Amino acid sequence: MDDNKKIPLAIPHMSGNEEIYIERAFKQNWIAPLGPNVDLFENRLGMYNQAHVAATSSGTAAIHLALTLLGVTEGDYVICSTFTFVASINPALYLGAHPIFIDSEAETMNMSPEALELALQDCQRKGIQPKAIILVHLYGHSAKMDEIMALANYYQVPIIEDAAESLGSEYKGQKLGTLGEIGIFSFNGNKIITTSGGGALVSKNKNYVEKAKFLASQSKENAPYYLHQEVGYNYRLSNVLAGIGIAQLEVLEERIQKKRLIFEHYQQAFENFPQIEMKQEPQNTRSNYWLSIMLLNHGKSPQYIIEQLNEQGIEARRLWNPMHCQPLFQNAPIYTESTENIAEKLFNTGICLPSGTNMSEEELAYIEKQISKIIEK
Ligand SMILES: *Cc1c(COP(=O)(O)O)cnc(C)c1O
Repeated sequence: MDDNKKIPLAIPHMSGNEEIYIERAFKQNWIAPLGPNVDLFENRLGMYNQAHVAATSSGTAAIHLALTLLGVTEGDYVICSTFTFVASINPALYLGAHPIFIDSEAETMNMSPEALELALQDCQRKGIQPKAIILVHLYGHSAKMDEIMALANYYQVPIIEDAAESLGSEYKGQKLGTLGEIGIFSFNGNKIITTSGGGALVSKNKNYVEKAKFLASQSKENAPYYLHQEVGYNYRLSNVLAGIGIAQLEVLEERIQKKRLIFEHYQQAFENFPQIEMKQEPQNTRSNYWLSIMLLNHGKSPQYIIEQLNEQGIEARRLWNPMHCQPLFQNAPIYTESTENIAEKLFNTGICLPSGTNMSEEELAYIEKQISKIIEK
């Protein structure tokens, strides 16, 4: 290995065709938001997911729109996965809503159906009707959809699937993001495919998507002059960035294959380490393995291993620090399925390993060698 070379966690991986679509936008002078690239990107993403699509300026914006579509306003309650990135929850705060956090379960790392049921029962007892469930699929792995959707149906609370990290992943053959009422994706720089910055709102329900496009363009009414009846946002994806997205979508399946190979490589390398569990996709699902997750059952702390790896030029990161542990949400309730908090345990034992699809075999072998050395030291 080159001594100066750093291996990043995951960086954008262009296909080579991005510039063709960007150039097309320049040739047509279609640099503004919206335009033919946005239409094509939405069509392709829609076909891929078998759903309607509104391309947005970010995944966060898409969540804000989704909550708005479901009528979330000041003082409402929104049930949320605690184990996630803060972007999943911030839009609830923009609207003045109160998050109610649900712990993870160990198999998928995502929302525990048992803890969700406890929360829903408790809400019912208190006469609270939550307006939405923000359900996150982390690291490409699907949550337990059958169980969670049955509860959501019974208690009549619509699901927003935050599939920002899980584009292309499947639950029982269906694409994540399309099982709930509304789904969202992110195309930020570190995601499996990127537009440098961008997102999408998806739904089987065309009305939601039409309304999202309206809200995302300042809620401009169809009139021969500027006419506005409700609050709007400037949340649409630019036509230039959509060009990157079209070319990235063309290689999505290739990227998923490579992510899956990276995971298998790690899994084989650490097979004989009793301290290490490589987090596999749950049963009946297909994960895009956005990031390969390593859990340490005993021994060294994640922070220590990450620091040691850094010294060897390898970037690794902690898992998400749960939302109920953040000062920002110190007053929000948290429901767990047992006395142990699973999300906290994951945060305290997990490491995100480098998972860039442009990594070489040699780099992977180098990472594995360094991890083995640190663990055995
Ligand atoms: C990246 C991410 C988002 C936010 O997407 P942006 O496009 O960066 O706004 C939301 N939720 C999760 C789980 C994410 O990982």
